[in-house]
Amino acid sequence: MNTLYQDMEARLALLEAEGNLRSLPRLEHHGRYVNTPGSKPMLNLSSNDYLGLAARTDWWQDFIDNVQPEALLPTSSSSRLLTGNFPVCEELEEELAALLGCEATLLLGCGYHANTGILPAVADKSTLILADKLVHASLIDGIRLSDARCIRYRHNDLAQLERLLAQHHGMYSRIIVVTESIFSMDGDEADLPRLVALKKQYDNVMLYVDEAHAFGVRGRRGMGCAEEQGCIPDIDLLVGTFGKAAASAGAFVACKQIVRRYLVNHMRPFIFTTALPPVNVAWTLHVVRRLPHLQEERRHLATLGGLLRQGLRQAELQCPGSSHIAPLIVGESTEAVKLAAHLQRQGFYALPVRPPTVPPGTARIRFSLTAALKAEEVESLLHNVRLYFNKALPTPCLCNGKAMDSQYI
Ligand SMILES: *Cc1c(COP(=O)(O)O)cnc(C)c1O
Repeated sequence: MNTLYQDMEARLALLEAEGNLRSLPRLEHHGRYVNTPGSKPMLNLSSNDYLGLAARTDWWQDFIDNVQPEALLPTSSSSRLLTGNFPVCEELEEELAALLGCEATLLLGCGYHANTGILPAVADKSTLILADKLVHASLIDGIRLSDARCIRYRHNDLAQLERLLAQHHGMYSRIIVVTESIFSMDGDEADLPRLVALKKQYDNVMLYVDEAHAFGVRGRRGMGCAEEQGCIPDIDLLVGTFGKAAASAGAFVACKQIVRRYLVNHMRPFIFTTALPPVNVAWTLHVVRRLPHLQEERRHLATLGGLLRQGLRQAELQCPGSSHIAPLIVGESTEAVKLAAHLQRQGFYALPVRPPTVPPGTARIRFSLTAALKAEEVESLLHNVRLYFNKALPTPCLCNGKAMDSQYI
């Protein structure tokens, strides 16, 4: 028996014993619903399709009916630096730059490429990276791949960040502050104007903001928290992704023209990868052009987030954050797994998030809301959660007295 494989077996068994073993779920999708083979349909509360666009077959039909035949090409066959720079790539980059009101954007394969590629390109040995404690794994990997020194500051603790900047700015040629705008696991937000003000105290500080969960969802035109908070021009590296609210795949970085040219020459996950297929880029462009008109969806999504958070807090349950991502923190992994299984039996596809994705003792159910949900459905979810914790309100008519089964299945 090969000892390499024995070792893997032992490590997997350990994960299983801790309740932390991952496996790929087999799911069938039916618009807003999903089911596992043989299960009842469950309302999908775990998707990143925040605006409900992935389930909009009318949008897809409209795209197919109007797309230029050459844009249907399913492969680019090459890196953009060789033969893969199709006109639609630059069309999308220009559209994004116009909507954001920034100098330039660069299209990238995905958010993971963006975050693992930009930092190693722009940071060197004389760079200090100051990163929020809760930034996404892809940013951590980007930091690891860079030659920079890194210090993590406590989550959203800008007073600590201010001290670190004061202490270190003279010792490095460049400092890069790295944050998300809406944080993926806590659903809370960074104070971007304050981060901009901190960065402006020194002339060698850059600001890097990952808007994966905010692009499409926030801002008058859907360009993210930076648009909402009026600070797009002050963010040196603004990353957005298309796999979530934009119902596509891929990512972009918005930056100055000089930074774009630099990245084209130095960013390895841009240079050494096949460009996105033209058909995918054309679909992204189709969606991006329509994002400014989805104000109603954005408003509805914000209302649903408020409703769920407020309802959980009223029941004295722990739900941090301020966005459409609402985590219900329960503590131990086993408890999160049990609650998720219960909600799934009730017709809600909610998933547990466990360590190491989140700190030990903060296992949670991560409710990821979309504009395709109805307020009554969120009320019904709340009612079920309250019942589970024995915290039903004296007025259970919040869900119109209807049982989950008759309402959705
Ligand atoms: C999803 C996500 C990414 C990765 O984006 P992909 O396009 O899916 O690779 C990066 N950063 C954050 C914060 C994310 O949530």
